[in-house]
Amino acid sequence: MYSLGIEGTAHTVSVGIVDENCNVLANQSANYFPKEGIHPRKAVEHHAEAIPKLITTALKEAKLTIKDIDVISFSKGPGIQPCLRLTATIARTIAINHKKPIIGVNHCIAHVEIGKKKTGAKDPIILYVSGGNTQVIGFAQNRYRVFGETIDIAIGNSIDKFARFCDLGFPGGPIVEKLAKKGKFQELPYKVKGMDFSFSGIAVELERRYKKGANINDLCYSFQETVFAMLTESVERALAHTEKTEVLLTGGVAQNKRLQQMLKIMAKERGCKYFAVPKEYAGDNGAMIAWAGMIKHKNKKHDQLKDTKIIRDWRIDEVIL
Ligand code: AMP
Ligand code: MG
Repeated sequence: MYSLGIEGTAHTVSVGIVDENCNVLANQSANYFPKEGIHPRKAVEHHAEAIPKLITTALKEAKLTIKDIDVISFSKGPGIQPCLRLTATIARTIAINHKKPIIGVNHCIAHVEIGKKKTGAKDPIILYVSGGNTQVIGFAQNRYRVFGETIDIAIGNSIDKFARFCDLGFPGGPIVEKLAKKGKFQELPYKVKGMDFSFSGIAVELERRYKKGANINDLCYSFQETVFAMLTESVERALAHTEKTEVLLTGGVAQNKRLQQMLKIMAKERGCKYFAVPKEYAGDNGAMIAWAGMIKHKNKKHDQLKDTKIIRDWRIDEVIL
């Protein structure tokens, strides 16, 4: 059984193919990384041009033809509306033309499910950190519940914005991580409210200090130490409340070694198991969409075409499993 997944919620457009055991047969991506931030129309133009080629290359990589594919999966939300519409339209077109079942996947669930499958985590507290989302999640009674989340911008977005402000390049995460290695600590606002967190004030304060001539390495180091400690605190509280014994880190920011280290230390001190999604499936990718679709396909939970309308703000806790 094969699922072909199409991802295109934001900067990354990607086509993945997986089998029923989540062996990834293909995962082909193209990125739209403009200097000035995402322009929705330009992102759509980029994705529209890239997708046909990505599908052909993915099928070739998997040594399959479209006839061999059992189900077409796509990211139905959350994401940037025009990008979601494009992806859904392409998925519907393939499904109709080739008479395949279609499944619209929640993008956040896809990040979680690929993380669980590829690490072997069974029932973790999940720290989902990416360009557009930051949430502490756990499964309870038929759905993923959100225990803590950002009350303003996502962590990846705050890092990217700061990097852009300082002309460091894009995406900011890996650059900030590298510079942080040479930095010293300066105190920054620490914004945990209950189990939620806020990043926008910290980003403004960093920009203020940068303009006043603060050392960029020190700013990067202090930024990481502060926001990662905030996230780790919320995850620890979720573990304490739920008595779960596993932690799973997923999403694009999960590639950060310092964040991995902090969570790992906390998990060890609590006697919990720690897992991080493999690097190749951390950022947005088609394989995770294909896998989330495959799970539904195996349960025969296909969508009718009328149910494939995109949902721009589709929260993970709205999906009943
Ligand atoms: P996603 O939205 O899941 O595709 O993830 C993209 C986000 O991951 C962007 O905001 C990147 O800056 C961020 N990112 C990628 N690598 C790293 C890293 N090493 N450290 C921190 N953030 C990262
Ligand atoms: Mg994502």
